[in-house]
Amino acid sequence: MRKPLIAANWKMYKTPAEAAAFVQAFDLLVAHHHHADIVLFPSASSLAAVVGTPRSKHIQIGGQDMHWLNEGAYTGATSPLMLKAIGCTHVLIGHSERRQYFNETDTTVNLKLKSALAHDLIPIVCIGEHLNERESDLTAKVLELQVAVALEGIDPTTAHSMIFAYEPVWAIGTGRTATPATAEQAHKLIRGQIAASLTPAIAASTRILYGGSVRPENAATLCCLEDIDGALVGGASLDPNSFAEIIIQSKG
Ligand code: PEP
Repeated sequence: MRKPLIAANWKMYKTPAEAAAFVQAFDLLVAHHHHADIVLFPSASSLAAVVGTPRSKHIQIGGQDMHWLNEGAYTGATSPLMLKAIGCTHVLIGHSERRQYFNETDTTVNLKLKSALAHDLIPIVCIGEHLNERESDLTAKVLELQVAVALEGIDPTTAHSMIFAYEPVWAIGTGRTATPATAEQAHKLIRGQIAASLTPAIAASTRILYGGSVRPENAATLCCLEDIDGALVGGASLDPNSFAEIIIQSKG
């Protein structure tokens, strides 16, 4: 019922030429693998090059962040209208690196989520606990609060496209991964909070991705379980062969 989605977060890597070369090579490798939707998240300066490179229909493009306003005096920011105009269908919201280095908070995540839904951009809302929070047994509390604040004032009838990504901060870029059981438990909890904040029907149809050191070797066990509907991949998505292998392995 929930089609898997595998997304590539390229962070601050790849020039436009490098990004276009990736798409050319990658498309050949996954053109016949349609079991999952695929979304590439290049840096803002490479969006035009990626959108302009011919590729299969199931490979879509998104922005790594956006402002919630349509325009204004916000140097360095990109608006939802700009993402749409360049050809983006998706947007990442609240990645832990935005939270850590750029003052992203649950409140700005909420503003961005409302704006993305209003502009028909498919949001992937990133949440996750820090290591000290997990070790202090605060994971459930942290995740429930992040989801509850992100969804404050969201009209359930507008939320059908919304996606969440559970990214334990201690697993991002560290080589450490959550065990499938730990990830499943977190995903169930997140789904429960979506049901409480919106409706059980929205919770049942919302895709929840796992992110944190997903690689070709662990994709088969981490990407697609009962409550895990795909993956958000950082480091291992930078190479077309490695990212294509993750797509192939996610078929199970
Ligand atoms: C990410 O950037 O969202 C991520 C999960 O990174 P990595 O796969 O490198 O841990």
